[in-house]
Amino acid sequence: MTGTTRLLIGGEWRDAADGATREIRCPADGRPVATVPEATADDALDAVRAARVAFDEGPWPHTPAPERAALLHRLADRLTSEKEEVARLEALDTGKRMVEARLDMDDIISVFRHYAGLAQAEAGRVVDAGMPDVVSRVVHEPVGVCSLITPWNYPLLQTSWKVAPALAAGNTFVLKPSELTPSTAVWLVRTLTEEGLPAGVANLVLGAGDRVGPPLTEAPEVDLVSFTGGLVTGRRIMASAAPTVKRIALELGGKNPNILFADADLDAAIDLALTAIFLDSGQVCSAGSRLIVEESIHDEVVDELVARAARIRLGGPDDEQAETGPLISAGHREKVEAYVAAGVAEGAVLRVGGARPEGAAYDAGFYYLPTILDRCTSAMSCVQEESFGPVLTVETFSGEDRDAAEDAAVALANDTVYGLAGAVWTQNAGRAERVAARLRHGTIWINDYHPYVPQAEWGGFKQSGVGRELGLAGLAEYRETKHVWHNTRPAAQHWFGGPQDGQS
Ligand code: NAD
Repeated sequence: MTGTTRLLIGGEWRDAADGATREIRCPADGRPVATVPEATADDALDAVRAARVAFDEGPWPHTPAPERAALLHRLADRLTSEKEEVARLEALDTGKRMVEARLDMDDIISVFRHYAGLAQAEAGRVVDAGMPDVVSRVVHEPVGVCSLITPWNYPLLQTSWKVAPALAAGNTFVLKPSELTPSTAVWLVRTLTEEGLPAGVANLVLGAGDRVGPPLTEAPEVDLVSFTGGLVTGRRIMASAAPTVKRIALELGGKNPNILFADADLDAAIDLALTAIFLDSGQVCSAGSRLIVEESIHDEVVDELVARAARIRLGGPDDEQAETGPLISAGHREKVEAYVAAGVAEGAVLRVGGARPEGAAYDAGFYYLPTILDRCTSAMSCVQEESFGPVLTVETFSGEDRDAAEDAAVALANDTVYGLAGAVWTQNAGRAERVAARLRHGTIWINDYHPYVPQAEWGGFKQSGVGRELGLAGLAEYRETKHVWHNTRPAAQHWFGGPQDGQS
């Protein structure tokens, strides 16, 4: 193990207290990628305390905003110059294709630049108190110690959505990436340190969530927990942060509807419906996993989707012909298989996929074929629960007139506890706006699927989340807002307990 694949606690690279380690293997082919420490709960607590000391006694919370911004820009510069190397770390941990990993790096660079800009924006404002001797102002301050807990899909991108605003606002943090994909988090904290971030501001804990997670979400020294991951874990974290009333931001899962009206541009809609679900083998929180299609075009749309899904080529990081990659782990593939089996048992029609691909090239990886389950209903578990794999469910709607069709589509699309993202396809601009306004999901694409920009906000309605990331709101999550009332001419008021009779 090299000195830079250890835990980073209070500026020191350390092994786990009990010496435990974990082997990271590429999910595409099983090749060994790294051996990393598996932290203990005590290590996690040490990291929290180091972050506390750095916040309470260190220079970072008081570092001028331009310097904080400059550090974020230097990180973006390093990622630009080391893009190929970092993309490879990410591709080997996740099994995703290099071409995708490189695109992720471009996104991450723009996230760091975005928050570098925001670090200096909105310094605060003066409020007119209506009194000549009073200066009244609203200022922003860092929240304090942040526990940043991230998932295995888009590991460095999800991490950058938390680390960049946390640093921009002047916080200290403990980062815990997914135990399955630690490599780029190691690169990130190492590079921040090399670029001059003071010791103790960035701390890194690697390990399983149930082992190192509780200290990060329960310790009284932690002020904010920002978590991206599954709904069940999110509920647990919310409960464990409650006794100490921490600030909390949760980005959870989605069962995202992709609505196709019969008046859509079907060439584009069908093409993007494939991207919506099969990008990264469906391991995308905003994946368009529920196709909700008008009954009159069902056969045309689904036949075409099935034919094209059957042709999708699977492969690992270096397969330049591959269109999508493996699932992250054996356990995750079993979960996806269970959802497909349950769907079929509940009456869904398996049109394509539903199995592991055959061939020696796939034997050592966790591949699963692009799968379409037709004739689904919203009562089915495969429609309601996140399989987080390459599984598209198809539901249909119809209506006697324009309003009835829209009502039916919207009712299906909103029939979920989730509310992360969704899309509507129609060439009728009025219909597009009407439907988008009624969808209870945090991001809506009209005649598109998946693009996002850091300047816009990201976040879920309903059980998809608490709080927002990106945009201006993303920085607000990491700042406390304080009103300072400065009376420059204090004087006694004599409202209470004034001079007694005979004493004046
Ligand atoms: P997960 O919930 O299993 O794990 C996420 C992180 O939480 C990991 O680092 C894990 O180790 C940690 N963890 C687990 N138990 C914990 C505990 N008790 N205390 C503290 N930390 C704990 O999620 P995953 O399987 O890694 O990621 C997939 C999920 O992430 C999907 O549900 C997906 O929709 C969601 N996701 C959401 C977004 C979004 O923007 N809304 C983005 C990406 C992924």
